[in-house]
Amino acid sequence: MSKSLQAIRGMNDILPEQTPLWRYFEGTVARLLDNYGYKQIRMPIVEFTELFKRSIGEVTDIVEKEMYTFEDRNGDSLTLRPEGTAACVRAVLEHGLTGGGQPQKLWYIGPMFRHERPQKGRYRQFHQIGLEVFNLDGPDIDAELIVLTWRLWGQLGIRDSVKLELNSLGTSESRGRYRVALVEYLSAHLDKLDEDSQRRLKTNPLRVLDTKNADTQAVLVNAPKMADYLDDESRTHFEGLKARLDAAGIPYVINPKLVRGLDYYSKTVFEWVTDKLGAQGTVCAGGRYDGLVEQMGGKPTTGVGFAMGIERLILLLETLGQVPEEISRQVDVYLCAFGEAAELAALALSEKVRDQLPNLRLQINAGAGSFKSQFKKADKSGALYALILGEDELAQQVIGFKPLRGQGEQQNIAFDALAAHLATCVVQG
Ligand code: ATP
Ligand code: MG
Repeated sequence: MSKSLQAIRGMNDILPEQTPLWRYFEGTVARLLDNYGYKQIRMPIVEFTELFKRSIGEVTDIVEKEMYTFEDRNGDSLTLRPEGTAACVRAVLEHGLTGGGQPQKLWYIGPMFRHERPQKGRYRQFHQIGLEVFNLDGPDIDAELIVLTWRLWGQLGIRDSVKLELNSLGTSESRGRYRVALVEYLSAHLDKLDEDSQRRLKTNPLRVLDTKNADTQAVLVNAPKMADYLDDESRTHFEGLKARLDAAGIPYVINPKLVRGLDYYSKTVFEWVTDKLGAQGTVCAGGRYDGLVEQMGGKPTTGVGFAMGIERLILLLETLGQVPEEISRQVDVYLCAFGEAAELAALALSEKVRDQLPNLRLQINAGAGSFKSQFKKADKSGALYALILGEDELAQQVIGFKPLRGQGEQQNIAFDALAAHLATCVVQG
């Protein structure tokens, strides 16, 4: 195929054989979030570039080098959203959803865009499910976010393969004091830092903490510790969170180097990581951002949230073999009809059955065909049963009912009795 007719590098089609797993995953999360009282919000995929610069921060990887930014026909600078929090805050402010100080527990799902180097678990269009909570400032809600993801991992069967890393960045004041101390220390060891860290020291010094460079890591061993600079409020908040995780029986490790890539975090930050996916091991990440709403022009409004990467979680389910078998079977019953008269009767009968059994997954053969070819298609569809309607059956107003997976004998069922019969063998719940 010519190049112009290919998908953009790092942007994937999700093919029919993959969508059952995506729908299972998305359905599981949506049900869980309903049960915890979160409400879905849907934002546009494109926003003014300024929104991301102001919220994510100018000197972050995302804004510096990963955004898909372009001018539209009016000359406005627009950007395909690289993450969901900024747009969610924008929407919340624009519609006054937190105007009176009322709490909001929101979630969203959709594609995000970052111009990164594509590799396993890292794409240029990827999908996130995100949660954002506003106007609830206690550690109880930080804990709830973590508790519900823990429940999700349990439902998906991946609990044993993910680990929770936790840190507190303090308030912006305590972080400011820590930053001064860190810069002072690192500046004294400037020649031992890698090039990237030297640059970050000037632009975003906390990011030096999560360097992968071994020499810089060695320098960091004796660097001032963020925990020693936490103000009382942040310390109490962090203790409150840990106490709740302990009460809920959720294991975690404190990672003092966890700083997260975005500028807007304060107090709690966390990541769920797995060692089953190679370098792209973070499947869910987030934290508290109490200053962000005000920074974006709203009244002081606390916030906390996280986003999970759907592609990485799908990969993890596949890697661990945690793909429930039943999700790929999408047909219960396959109806074969032979001859024009039988086809007409089959259509009318099917619609009656669908009226009575709205959850039945009934597929009618399309494109006619011989007995053999229709039967082959019935089998290939994965259906549990075939229905067979030929001239003889039609004359008697019955339909052949044939188990395809070895549960019992073929029998004829009267048209009138078909729905009731199917209800006993296929439709559950
Ligand atoms: P990473 O350190 O892996 O680049 P990040 O800190 O940039 O992640 P966040 O902005 O916190 O990621 O996004 C939350 C989650 O979204 C990540 O934990 C990951 O699961 C997923 N994610 C982020 N970037 C990508 C990407 N390019 N491709 C696929 N998933 C991604
Ligand atoms: Mg990243």
